[in-house]
Amino acid sequence: MKLKEIMERASEDEDLIVALERAIESYMDSRIRVLNRYSYITELAKEVRRIKESAIEKIEELIKEAKDSMEENHMNVYIAENAEKAREIVGDLVGTGKIVVKTKSITSDEIGLRKFLQNKGNEVWETDLGELIVQWLDSKPMHFITPSINVRREKVAELIKKNIGESVDKDDIPGMTYAVRRFLRKKFIDADVGISGANVIAADTGSILIITNEGNGRLSTSLPEKHIVLAGVEKIVPGLQDAFKVSDVIMKYAGYSAASYLSVISGPSKTGDIEKKVVFGAHGPREVDVVLLDNGRLRASRDRRLKEALYCLRCGSCQYLCPIFRLVGGYWGGDAYVGGIGILWNMIIGNEEEAKEQSLFCLGCHECEFVCPMGIKTADIIREIRAGYIEEMGLD
Ligand code: SF4
Repeated sequence: MKLKEIMERASEDEDLIVALERAIESYMDSRIRVLNRYSYITELAKEVRRIKESAIEKIEELIKEAKDSMEENHMNVYIAENAEKAREIVGDLVGTGKIVVKTKSITSDEIGLRKFLQNKGNEVWETDLGELIVQWLDSKPMHFITPSINVRREKVAELIKKNIGESVDKDDIPGMTYAVRRFLRKKFIDADVGISGANVIAADTGSILIITNEGNGRLSTSLPEKHIVLAGVEKIVPGLQDAFKVSDVIMKYAGYSAASYLSVISGPSKTGDIEKKVVFGAHGPREVDVVLLDNGRLRASRDRRLKEALYCLRCGSCQYLCPIFRLVGGYWGGDAYVGGIGILWNMIIGNEEEAKEQSLFCLGCHECEFVCPMGIKTADIIREIRAGYIEEMGLD
C-alpha cells in the first residue's frame, strides 16, 4: 500500500482510533502486571535472544535436524523455498471439496493461504475469533496478536448477525464469543483438515509448540484426520527446553502470565494398546504434514540487518507502543506483517518496494526497541532502509 492510501484507509476507518485505544489500554495494564509479577522474565528474554541468535547462525543445520527428528516421529516434512511452492504443497495435501479449519497463522497470511484454498473449492474457516472477524470483513490482520484490533464490539455484533444469524447486544461481548463458539463447533467436528502455524519448533525432538488461549488450536490440530503445519524456518530452535523458554517469553510479553493452552505436537496420534502393534490415528490426526517455509528467510539470515527480524517472537508489543501504529494501525504494512517490524519482514519476503516506501513513516522514536523482548533495533534498521531508498529515488 502506498503512503497516501494508508492515510486514506486509516482516516476512512472511523472505528480505528477508538478500537486501538481500547485494546492498547487493556494490553498495557496486562503487560505491566505480568512483567512486574514475573521479574525473571527480562533475564529470560535475554537468554532467548541468545538462543535465537545461535539458532539463526546455524539455521540450515537446524532445518535438517528438525526434519530428521520429525520424520522419525512419522511426520511428513516438506521444505518450501517460496510462497508459491508452499501454496502448491499445502494445496496438494488438502485437495478440493474439503472442510478446513485454521488457527491464527501469520505465515499463512504471508502466502495468502486461505483464499488460495477457497479458490481450489474448499470451505475454509479461521477459528481464532479475531481472524474470523477479519475473514468476515474480507480485510487483513491488523496486529500480530489481535488481528481485528481495529474492530469495535458494535461492528462485531453486526457481523455475527449477518454471518451467523444470531442477534447479540452490542455490549454483550461474552454473548458474541458464545455465538461464535456454537457456530464453529460444528466446523471443527466436520473438518477434514486442520491447519496451524507454530510459535516455535524444537529441532532435537521434532516438536511443534503452539500457544493459544481460545482452545481453537487444540480442536483444529486434534479433531481432523489430517493436520498440516505451516511454519517459517526461523521458528526452529535447537532443543525442546529452548522452545519452552521461547514460549514463556512470548506469553509474558503478549500480556499473559501463561496462555490457556501450550500444545506440544510431536507426531500423529497413535496407540500400541493391542498387542503392541502401533496404529496411527487413534483419536487425533492420522497424518501430520509439516511445511517449512524459507521465502527469503535463509537469505535474511546472512544479512547483517534483516537477520534481526528473524529473532522476532511476534509478541506484538512494538505494535501497541508505536505512535504511528496508534494512528494508522495495521494499514501500515503488508498483508501479513504490519507496523515497524513489518517493514523488515516485508523486505525479507520480497515486498521490498512497498517496504522501502513505507519506511518513510517511521519517526525513529525507538519505542519499539524499548519494549521488544528481543531488543530488535527496528528503528535503526528502518533508518538504513530509508536512507537507501532516499538515495535510490534521488530524494533529498
Ligand atoms: S519486534 Fe520485538 S516487540 Fe515487536 S513483535 Fe517482534 S519480538 Fe515482539
